[in-house]
Amino acid sequence: MRIRQFTLTQSALAAIGLMLACSLALGGSLLWHHYAALSGSARTLARLDAFSLVLDAANRISAERGPTNAALGGDLTEHDPVRLRLQAFRRASDAAIARIPPALAPVAAPMQAQLDRARGEVDALLARPRAQRGGSDIEAAILAMFTAYDATMPVADMAMDKLLAGDSALIGHALVARMLGELRDYAGRLGSYLVISIVRGEPLAGASRQAFEETRGRILELWRLIDSQTAVHVAGLAARARQDTEELFFGKGIRLIEQTRAQLDASQYRGSPEHFTDAIVPSFTPIEQLRDRFISSVAQRFDATYRHARADFVLAVIGTALVLAVQLALLFISRRFLFRPLMLAHTRVVDLANGKLHQPAVPKQLRSEMRDLFQALETLRSRLIEREQLDAERLRLTARLRIQADTDGLTGVLNRGALERLVQKIAGNPERKRTVGLILLDIDHFKAINDDLGHVAGDAALRALAQRLQEALRDEDVVARFGGEEFAILILDDHAAETDTLADVAERLRGWIEARPVRLDNGTEIAITVSIGVATANAGPQMWPELLRAADSALYRAKREGRNRVAIAEA
Ligand code: GH3
Ligand code: MG
Ligand code: MG
Repeated sequence: MRIRQFTLTQSALAAIGLMLACSLALGGSLLWHHYAALSGSARTLARLDAFSLVLDAANRISAERGPTNAALGGDLTEHDPVRLRLQAFRRASDAAIARIPPALAPVAAPMQAQLDRARGEVDALLARPRAQRGGSDIEAAILAMFTAYDATMPVADMAMDKLLAGDSALIGHALVARMLGELRDYAGRLGSYLVISIVRGEPLAGASRQAFEETRGRILELWRLIDSQTAVHVAGLAARARQDTEELFFGKGIRLIEQTRAQLDASQYRGSPEHFTDAIVPSFTPIEQLRDRFISSVAQRFDATYRHARADFVLAVIGTALVLAVQLALLFISRRFLFRPLMLAHTRVVDLANGKLHQPAVPKQLRSEMRDLFQALETLRSRLIEREQLDAERLRLTARLRIQADTDGLTGVLNRGALERLVQKIAGNPERKRTVGLILLDIDHFKAINDDLGHVAGDAALRALAQRLQEALRDEDVVARFGGEEFAILILDDHAAETDTLADVAERLRGWIEARPVRLDNGTEIAITVSIGVATANAGPQMWPELLRAADSALYRAKREGRNRVAIAEA
């Protein structure tokens, strides 16, 4: 199996991507942890609030009994302060009940019904003049108000269950809060039993007396429990309220209750229910304060916990966002300023190595080392271009030198060396089985031209002759200056190289030269004749010496036979 090769960039980007994913996972779990702590503590705070609202509503219902008892014991005018106080207390109860969260509605509804029933009984009695209210009717109405308070218990149970389901460690606090509520209610009940007795105008007796005794016993029992608990938990304002409870309720309040009871037992009590209520109710206030302050101190602690959790969560969010942002920036920066330029540099180096020297300009956004790298590449590229130009120049020079080496300086036709090299090539080529013809041509009495007109004129005559030869011959025929005033013409075309044709060509050349004198720049005309020797030979290793010897001796013969003529080599 072939394993796929990843590029360096792909691997690096994948590594950064993996890092990002890990950070995301870590940050996510951190955030989740803090979010869970935050939402848990928010939930506990909300449940604590709900629990406290239920206890508050229960307390209001309990407290409503004070003005109820006072009202039941007297004859009220329409705007009687006692009636107004009762209405105010009822409104306070209703408002407290309305604040109970809807989640507790199923158990709160029976409570409301029980309260409505009890108030109905009370209102029915209040509609009658005091004289027409029987003692037992009043007792029944007061006991109905007890039942209304008892109906708050399931609501408090449910609120407490919810609270403890979220945080079972709160059980101690929750129980103390409830016991404080109970304590306030029992205290009120003690007063209510006495109001029953005041209304009836007789000592407490029967079931009420027993209930009074039991309630008093429970109060002391509850206080022992509360005392041991609050000794540990309570501080500041709550501690003050605890002390006030000790003094105002367990001191003054209980004393007043005992005195009143003793007076009732002795049929010596002269006060009205309103008078008694006004005297006893203030002693309950520290119990309410203690409960409120106890709950609010617990709530404050949980509020602090909540704020801590919130700060931790915010910090975790910021931290995670920062880490992710840094990594994203790293990804972006390394892509833009490292990997992309590196890939580009890679492509350019490969291109340079492959001879692709024309490349676009250096990207502008590059920085520091990358810019240096690209500038170095640019330098390398311009050096390569320079070298390429030098190479081209060298080739041109070499070619020119080669041409110069092959060319005769005076006439511009090939020199003898070049001709012989060409012949060697032809002779050495085994494919070339053909006839080659050579026309050897020498100017007659050239010495005399030099002597009569000077060397310069002689040179001009040589140049003019070379030009004429090239004009008269075809492109494929090769003209060379063989030395001095001697020229050689190589005829490579098979047909033209045949002896007869070659002789014709030579004869035509000779006639043509004879017919047209060379005209110099100064107007002087020089009549020239040439002697020509022609020979043919078949291509092969010995072709050139044979050809040369034969043509040379034919030329010699032409000279000997009187010049200005063509001689054909003998076979
Ligand atoms: P012939 O008819 O026997 O060939 O007589 P000729 O005078 O041409 O014979 P020869 O070969 O003795 O003389 C050749 C002369 O050509 C000698 C030399 O001065 C002259 N010559 C050779 N090369 C050059 C050259 O490059 N320029 C000039 N002006 N004269 C040259
Ligand atoms: Mg000569
Ligand atoms: Mg000559």
